[in-house]
Amino acid sequence: MQLALKKKKKRPAEASDVEAASATAAVEPEVEDRSSADDGDSAPTTFEGLGLSEALCEACTSMNFKAPSAIQREAIPWALQGRDIIGLAETGSGKTAAFALPVLHKLLEHPQPLFALVVAPTRELAFQIGEQFEALGSNIGVKCVVAVGGVDMVQQAIMLAKRPHVVVGTPGRLVDHLQNTKGFSVRAVRFLVLDEADKLLNMDFEKELDIILGAVPKERNTFLFSATMTSKVKKLQRASLTNPVKVEVSSKYGTVKTLLQQYLFVPAKHKDCYLVHVCNELSGHSSIIFTATCATTQRLALMLRALGFPAIPLHGQLSQAKRLAALNKFKAGERTILIATDVASRGLDIPSVDLVLNFEMPANSKDYIHRVGRTARAGRAGRAVTLVTQYDVEIYQRIEHMLGQKLEAFDAPQDEVLLLMERVGEAQRHAAMEMRSTDGKKKGRNGKRASPDDEADESGLQRMMQQAARGKKPRRS
Ligand code: AMP
Repeated sequence: MQLALKKKKKRPAEASDVEAASATAAVEPEVEDRSSADDGDSAPTTFEGLGLSEALCEACTSMNFKAPSAIQREAIPWALQGRDIIGLAETGSGKTAAFALPVLHKLLEHPQPLFALVVAPTRELAFQIGEQFEALGSNIGVKCVVAVGGVDMVQQAIMLAKRPHVVVGTPGRLVDHLQNTKGFSVRAVRFLVLDEADKLLNMDFEKELDIILGAVPKERNTFLFSATMTSKVKKLQRASLTNPVKVEVSSKYGTVKTLLQQYLFVPAKHKDCYLVHVCNELSGHSSIIFTATCATTQRLALMLRALGFPAIPLHGQLSQAKRLAALNKFKAGERTILIATDVASRGLDIPSVDLVLNFEMPANSKDYIHRVGRTARAGRAGRAVTLVTQYDVEIYQRIEHMLGQKLEAFDAPQDEVLLLMERVGEAQRHAAMEMRSTDGKKKGRNGKRASPDDEADESGLQRMMQQAARGKKPRRS
């Protein structure tokens, strides 16, 4: 799809030296690059030192933020000076607070309803951003509404009519409200935040972004956060930012030093046995197991549960409520193994995961980085284990090449692993039966309803089963 975004008009009053110096460079936009050479890890700073108001510093303390993260140290002082920001940072870097804190600081200076509009690509991310705004703004009485799909439109319209300070939403639903909810307008917003811009654009939200950019006032501040700077993101940047400062805190494809990355070469037919072996060896740790399809996610959850592991699935064919419920159970530690498709690899705020297990290979090297980025955060140790079958060698080699290192092997003696065959076989049969019995039926096995927290929506599960029956590969989601 073509990006029809028009270039934002400059505010003449804000033209800086940098801008003047590059005024003749018509092709490249004027961007002041303030990316830290040392990933922003140099002099320790405090939230007070960044210039944030006392109430916000207290909120950081009560959220147990001991010191600002690198992206916060880099971005916040510029944002407080009134500059537009391009923040190149991944989930887990503290990027949400990097834009939420300056927005809240400015809101305190100029309180008004509908002060900030935050656009995020996924519903889960939108909820997490909303939660952080409310937590950070708790002692200043900030009201925030999350407007995403999958939730009743009328109820949301009622919430919006109460004129919250911050609206966080996904592009489709925001446009829906802009066009159909009487009285809802973003004409007065002072801040526009575009979070995970690369993902927004990969998900073909250009048309919606155009409408949103047309609905907000030209006189505003814009923060654009993205994990990567693609050509589409550059185009969006030109259309939406004025005289921005670029801050970047992590290298594009880097993994952190505290992450132990291992591979395990497994014959495809015994993959489940090897998975169970790794789960046994590393039991007690919080883990995310990544799969390529919704059906595998569901099957593995049933199989591991039959073997006594506290596993819970998360994928795109669960309803929004079930996705959030699954995530909350995992966050609360009720289940320690989350089995997820790539919908969970980005954007979700899942704290302290000890292990990432790639049951199926990611589609590409970038997804590998996003997946393993769920562990070894904020200086903590973490481990990533990737199962590699005879069919995955090529993509695995590409990943090693991209990482610039050979991974070490995870120790799994074959004779020990194959001792599990009988029990795993039984659990596989149990999972297959459960999958079949849920197919199109309201009741689960033994006349009981299957557990609602992890049951895919029936229509979704039916689709998966039909695809499997036709021998078609279920879609990734
Ligand atoms: P994000 O990159 O915004 O998804 O944030 C990842 C996690 O880091 C969230 O759970 C935040 O609450 C947490 N966080 C953000 N800033 C800090 C900080 N300065 N110190 C400790 N944790 C933080």
